[in-house]
Amino acid sequence: TNLVIAIDGPSGSGKSSVSKAVARALGAAYLDTGAMYRAITYSVLDAGTDLSDAAAIATAVREAKLEISVDPDHEHVVIGDTVVTDAIREPRISEQVSAVATNLEARAELVRRQREIIATNVRIVAEGRDITTVVAPDANARILLTASEEARLRRRGIQLGGTQDASALASQVLERDKKDSTVVNFTQAADGVITVDSSDLDFEQTINAVLDA
Ligand code: C5P
Repeated sequence: TNLVIAIDGPSGSGKSSVSKAVARALGAAYLDTGAMYRAITYSVLDAGTDLSDAAAIATAVREAKLEISVDPDHEHVVIGDTVVTDAIREPRISEQVSAVATNLEARAELVRRQREIIATNVRIVAEGRDITTVVAPDANARILLTASEEARLRRRGIQLGGTQDASALASQVLERDKKDSTVVNFTQAADGVITVDSSDLDFEQTINAVLDA
């Protein structure tokens, strides 16, 4: 590899669309590490594995046949023999993914696979929660993409102070970030990591800010 861009941030920070656009601009590959956590969650749910069984989750990750496309224009995720590209975006996956994300053995195995993917690409933009700190601390550029709570919820189409449904959805999103941040710190930039706050930037401006960084 000769160019690695690491991007971390909470859900709703615009991380995925910004990272894809940055990859396209640089003619680089794109790795969505969250999709890997989601795919494992899909397969343990599919197998009927008890999500409180940490050892079973760790084994499932070690044994998983997991394929992920690194083409920023073509999302494709396969676990075992099942294409799960769309299924991993279902709310039930978002609701349960923390069981995998908080499993330290599962993380270690996924980090190992992510490093392998990064190493086999000449240029790559990798995004997630622990890329700047754990997966690729030696990346050429390390960026923490943040946005205010209000902006993050707005991007997910959730109106603060809106209907009961909206506030339930809002607490779900914030709850996931809270759970996630117990195992990985993506709320504050580590040493040498550049923070790009997208709260008051549009899409184009955010991409330019990341490219500048
Ligand atoms: O980015 P996305 O929302 O798809 O990530 C799904 C989940 O995967 C996150 O909520 C988090 O629990 C987990 N994750 C992680 N470390 C990463 C990427 C994602 O723990 N590098």
